[in-house]
Amino acid sequence: MPKPLQLDTFLNSVRQRNPHEPEFLQAVEEVAESLIPFINQHPKYLEYRVLERMCEPDRSLSFRVAWEDDHGDIHVNRGYRVQFNNSIGPYKGGLRFHPSVNLSVLKFLGFEQTFKNSLTDLPMGAGKGGADFNPKGKSDREVMRFCQAFMSELFHYIGENVDVPAGDIGVGGREIAYLFGQYKRLTHEFAGVLTGKALEYGGSLVRLEATGYGVVYFLQNMLLFNGREYKGKRCLISGSGNVAIYAAEKALQLGIRVLTLSDSSGYVLFRKGLSEEHLAYIKQIKTVQRGRISEVAEKFSDVEFFPGQKPWQVPAEFALPCATQNELDADDAETLIANGIEAVCEGANMPCTKGAVDRFIAARVLYAPGKASNAGGVAVSGLEMSQNSQRLSWSREELDNMLRDIMRKIHDKCVRYGKEDDWVNYLKGANIAGFVKVVDAMVAFGVM
Ligand code: NDP
Repeated sequence: MPKPLQLDTFLNSVRQRNPHEPEFLQAVEEVAESLIPFINQHPKYLEYRVLERMCEPDRSLSFRVAWEDDHGDIHVNRGYRVQFNNSIGPYKGGLRFHPSVNLSVLKFLGFEQTFKNSLTDLPMGAGKGGADFNPKGKSDREVMRFCQAFMSELFHYIGENVDVPAGDIGVGGREIAYLFGQYKRLTHEFAGVLTGKALEYGGSLVRLEATGYGVVYFLQNMLLFNGREYKGKRCLISGSGNVAIYAAEKALQLGIRVLTLSDSSGYVLFRKGLSEEHLAYIKQIKTVQRGRISEVAEKFSDVEFFPGQKPWQVPAEFALPCATQNELDADDAETLIANGIEAVCEGANMPCTKGAVDRFIAARVLYAPGKASNAGGVAVSGLEMSQNSQRLSWSREELDNMLRDIMRKIHDKCVRYGKEDDWVNYLKGANIAGFVKVVDAMVAFGVM
């Protein structure tokens, strides 16, 4: 029987194997802290070296994407797909188009996805991919040519029973349509190989809203379970993309006062709280005109724009970071705590630094890690795959009920594995609950 795992020794070995991958190491460290004591109590997991195996992706692919802009100039980007773990289903996870994309970022996202997909209880393995391509400022035709070039290589490695990508930062409905069209052209096959499709060609109702709605359903479950109120309380949201917009919409529907939204240029403060009118305008400028959040302050006199700032200094009871990784650090956490924050629910993946998470946990703030609280998007993607396989479509109401039910079950699993003497450690709960299903499958398959 191997010796019990030591956190430091384990992390050192991961560091040595993955130098220059800070985001990936951060994600592993956060998980290992909760998992190692659990693994040491379960000799089967120790013997099969499941954590060591989970930290190594099944494979990482990188490829050249050459494309031509509207002026006839040729550009070269790097495309990736990290197929992390397919123990409980085909690889599943988004594609990100952003200049910051590199192997470290995609490995952290793929690693987190393994736990997240397991938590949904749907048969999905984990992967992540994308490119260091910046869609901002590109014409529709340029984005189309990039997507076609990207899929011309990626199609070799994906398939409805192999690997089913979806959207993420910089990849929304427009990009999924171009990618799906190119896959169909190359393979002569109309297959559910991507999720996040439009309804006309195999998409699912509620997929667009699912991540944001799911975050707020999780928050609602967490508050109700811990005997807290949410109606009329104040909420800070960062980002103004897919996740942020629909988190804001659901919060508004539940009577929570949304005070902020943001983008990489700064944040806007809704002095009287976000209204339906504000939200309709934001959807228009962000999803149709691809504009900036500052335009909301130009249109409405009760909205103020703070350039270059993050929203975390505004006093509120809830915070939903929904933009990107490491957008909320230890200093921000201190400020939020000093201002009386009650709950932090992650909409983005790993938006809180390790220092921030440690502070929230030490202060007994209700803190939900993204792998649990933002799992609604991939859950409805899983339901899109089921509808595609059965060649049918479920109604909005059915899907919204399924999403609510999945988020409640994820919450309950976090409570089951994260309950400590006088409170629930949702981070520990999510890590252990997500881990068990995957590693039980890995152990059953033997050593590979
Ligand atoms: P979008 O591209 O729709 O929106 C991203 C938002 O985050 C934009 O407002 C963007 O502002 C902002 N943002 C991006 N990078 C930065 C940065 N470095 N600093 C400040 N703001 C930034 O992406 P999504 O809403 O889809 O994704 C947001 C997060 O949620 C990501 O972490 C993603 O991995 C996670 N997620 C998404 C899911 C989904 O279903 N879409 C599912 C689960 C998690 P700007 O326009 O200025 O760049």
